[in-house]
Amino acid sequence: MTKKIKVKTTLVEMDGDEMTRVMWQMVKDKLLLPYLDMDIDYFDLHVKHRDDTDDQVTFDAARAIMKYGVGIKCATITPNEDRVKEYSLKKAWKSPNGTIRAMLDGTVFRKPILVNNIKPSVSSWKKPITIGRHAYGDVYDNFELHIPRAGKLEVVFTPANGDKSQTTFVKDFPSAGIVQINHNMEQSILSFARACFTYALAEKIDVWFSTKDTISKIYDAGFRDIFDREFANNWKDRFAKAGIEYFFTLIDDAVARIMKTEGGILWALKNYDGDVMSDMIASASGSLAMMTSVLVSPNGWFEYEAAHGTVQKHYYKHLKGEETSSNSMALIFAWTGGLRKRGELDGTPDVVKFASQVEEAALETVEGGIMTGDLLLLAEKKPSNKKVNTEGFIDAIAATLKKKLHG
Ligand code: NAP
Ligand code: MG
Repeated sequence: MTKKIKVKTTLVEMDGDEMTRVMWQMVKDKLLLPYLDMDIDYFDLHVKHRDDTDDQVTFDAARAIMKYGVGIKCATITPNEDRVKEYSLKKAWKSPNGTIRAMLDGTVFRKPILVNNIKPSVSSWKKPITIGRHAYGDVYDNFELHIPRAGKLEVVFTPANGDKSQTTFVKDFPSAGIVQINHNMEQSILSFARACFTYALAEKIDVWFSTKDTISKIYDAGFRDIFDREFANNWKDRFAKAGIEYFFTLIDDAVARIMKTEGGILWALKNYDGDVMSDMIASASGSLAMMTSVLVSPNGWFEYEAAHGTVQKHYYKHLKGEETSSNSMALIFAWTGGLRKRGELDGTPDVVKFASQVEEAALETVEGGIMTGDLLLLAEKKPSNKKVNTEGFIDAIAATLKKKLHG
């Protein structure tokens, strides 16, 4: 047995629920622990353990990421009424991702994993298109009102310092209607811009940012101006040195251009635009199980995870003893993403190299025709394609990895 690779700084691990918890353990046992000497700060975010600790464990995990810098998270149940019954929970605890995101103040980047035997629906896309979605404000935190009859709508702003209130006329309603008021924070938009520029510089890819600034001259144009100012003040030179670009364009133009690009870009989007467009990119690129996700905080903290959930339906089959064919690709890439970042921050190239070798082993396995059921439906039809079960897929990757490491 060759000497294990030392991961210098402690990694924060957040375990999760259901089928992803099952795959998580296999990935660790078969792909990582045989080769790595790591110090792990482990947090069990199993829904029952969150309940037992009154969700304290989620807050502790977020604080550990703030302490060490890099966290890797398994998918977790966000409890609803059904889950409260299923697991006899004290209450429907908040989404752990929401809690962690609020504490780290981050932007979520989603990037598809591409393999050469699954073609994106858009034929010009050769490299991944990453979406950077602002995770604050807009319709997710808005005010809505039903107007029952004819009348005048005004908004009143009352300054906190006791200055005179300011009333602004909005609309004369000739009859019944509906109203929506969105807001955002300049500080949050600035954090979003910084997270996007940080991510793009690390990945050495161009940044596109698009809003509807021609119509929305204060709100959407405000986003544009904050991005433009932040770029000019703090990023222009670094981008030029790295040979990458930032540009702003109207969202209509970005949507048209995205269909012609070969990819390899970061597309930064407001909250709602990012929500919708990331689903479009995921679907056009293949399967949910092939989408990675990382939360980048403006304070230099990183949290890696799969974009999908706990794959509940497969877990129930697994519990009944039936065979499953769940895809661990995005979970593996959560680990390799975190390990690569840890290696970069620690200045340990052997850890960075190992992360890449695991990714190569996973990609080569699928490209060699061994895959889970979700991918078999999408891949180019070849007689040599072989569907494997959940564990068989990880075993096949482990065998490829072993060959790669030991020649
Ligand atoms: P899901 O776990 O993403 O699964 C939805 C469907 O997508 C699955 O039923 C499966 O389709 C397919 N799929 C997703 N991941 C797959 C994989 N790795 N391999 C193969 N197929 C995969 O979403 P959900 O079932 O709606 O949600 C389950 C739980 O996850 C919920 O309790 C939710 O709260 C939680 N969730 C957590 C996160 C997170 O922690 N980041 C995100 C989303 C949801 P088929 O059944 O057709 O095979
Ligand atoms: Mg969506």
